[in-house]
Amino acid sequence: MTGALHVIGAGISGLATAITAAQAGLPVTLYEAAAQAGGRCRTIATGDGFVHDNGTHALLTANTRALAFLEEIGARAGWIEPEPGGIPVLDLRSGRLARVGLSPWSWIDPAKRPAGLRLTDLLRLARLALPLRDRPVAAAFPQSSLLEGFVEPLTVAVLNTPVATASTRRLGYVVRRVAWPGSARLLVARHGLTEDLVAPALRRLRALSAEIVTNARLRGLVRTGNRVAGLAFADGIIDLGEGDRVALALPPWEAGRLLPSLAVPRQTEAILNVHYRTPGASAPRLVGLRGARTQWVLARSDHTSVTISASKSVIDPPDPRVAGGLWPEVRAALQAIGIAAPETAPPARVVMEKRATVRHAVGDSLGFPPTGLVNLDLAGDWGGPLPATIEASVRAGEAAARLACWQRSNAALDWPARAKEAISWSR
Ligand SMILES: Cc1cc2nc3c(=O)[nH]c(=O)nc-3n(C[C@H](O)[C@H](O)[C@H](O)COP(=O)(O)OP(=O)(O)OC[C@H]3O[C@@H](n4cnc5c(N)ncnc54)[C@H](O)[C@@H]3O)c2cc1C
Repeated sequence: MTGALHVIGAGISGLATAITAAQAGLPVTLYEAAAQAGGRCRTIATGDGFVHDNGTHALLTANTRALAFLEEIGARAGWIEPEPGGIPVLDLRSGRLARVGLSPWSWIDPAKRPAGLRLTDLLRLARLALPLRDRPVAAAFPQSSLLEGFVEPLTVAVLNTPVATASTRRLGYVVRRVAWPGSARLLVARHGLTEDLVAPALRRLRALSAEIVTNARLRGLVRTGNRVAGLAFADGIIDLGEGDRVALALPPWEAGRLLPSLAVPRQTEAILNVHYRTPGASAPRLVGLRGARTQWVLARSDHTSVTISASKSVIDPPDPRVAGGLWPEVRAALQAIGIAAPETAPPARVVMEKRATVRHAVGDSLGFPPTGLVNLDLAGDWGGPLPATIEASVRAGEAAARLACWQRSNAALDWPARAKEAISWSR
């Protein structure tokens, strides 16, 4: 019996699983289907020299486990606050640029309030934090200017789901967290996701003597009764020892392929990103747009990235001329924060992540489904109560690793000792 942990998938959840388990002393092997780790949270570098992230990834200071993970891998300093004075939001209809605070506490300063904020809106927002009946976010804010000016952009950004279907219960988890003073500061990677997140995580794993195997797609699980007995890859089967465990840190559609009876969420939402090759700001700058199809613009030193979340409801079917069509909005946003931008659209790359995240609709499940396999755990961004984000990925990874450690230490105990252990836990 080796008590090794085999982690499948080197996205953020798999990296968090592997690092947490390796730190606890478990022998860990991490398998990744692609040539590069990071999953959806990666930097894309193609042959033409244009390097950009797979979509702008932001963290909030409320994302405590994600920030602790960054500390652990020595990468916290790489995440910076691009707009410490509040997020600039340009309303294209009026041409007005305002700085909006993400935290309700920042609204004590009238200059940082969302436009048209009223006391009734604040009460509706506070109700979201209570464990009340789940319903669509739009239905919780009837005739409220806060919906258009704050709640809708927040919902679409963090739940990647249109407000007509998004769950108030799920949004409530976010509202409760950002309500703490200091929790709603928005951070982005200074250079990019690979440099400021994935590469440091891989370095940490290597320092912990974990094995990392890329270009290794798990094709199937070999089962014996209620256990996983082997892992089937293209070049053969890896047999598992009696005490070995498996953590599937995969998106739900892939976990569902490997375990067809698993009740995984089936509904997903897309995110559209357009990356323009244009000189931008010396340090990252972020602008939000209202009255536009573009939602967020992130200017970096050598390119500008546009994000449209829940994008099927904004641009459907995907339009090949989208980069040129969006450019006047992007240009206006850049100019509003003092960044020069050419009149004609610069060369651009359009990246449509059709299954960017699961859809967080009313009534969706808040936990991972049971697998029925005693030595297999699930991780990934989709199984917890938080929205499918880096924070959810890290939390799920840490939980899967803790379970593996717990199982390993308890497998060594005989039954009377286990019973004694259980009684001491219950006290
Ligand atoms: C465009 C975009 C913008 C986003 N913006 C934000 C944001 O601003 N803030 C935020 O917190 N989150 C954001 N997210 C969400 C965030 O990227 C995800 O929640 C997170 O990356 C999910 O990590 P994961 O490890 O659970 O899954 P994945 O990243 O999907 O990782 C799974 C890994 O498993 C590998 N794999 C798949 N099948 C197999 C197999 N059979 N065998 C071996 N390996 C396999 C995949 O190649 C992949 O590397 C965004 C996502 C997208 C797409």
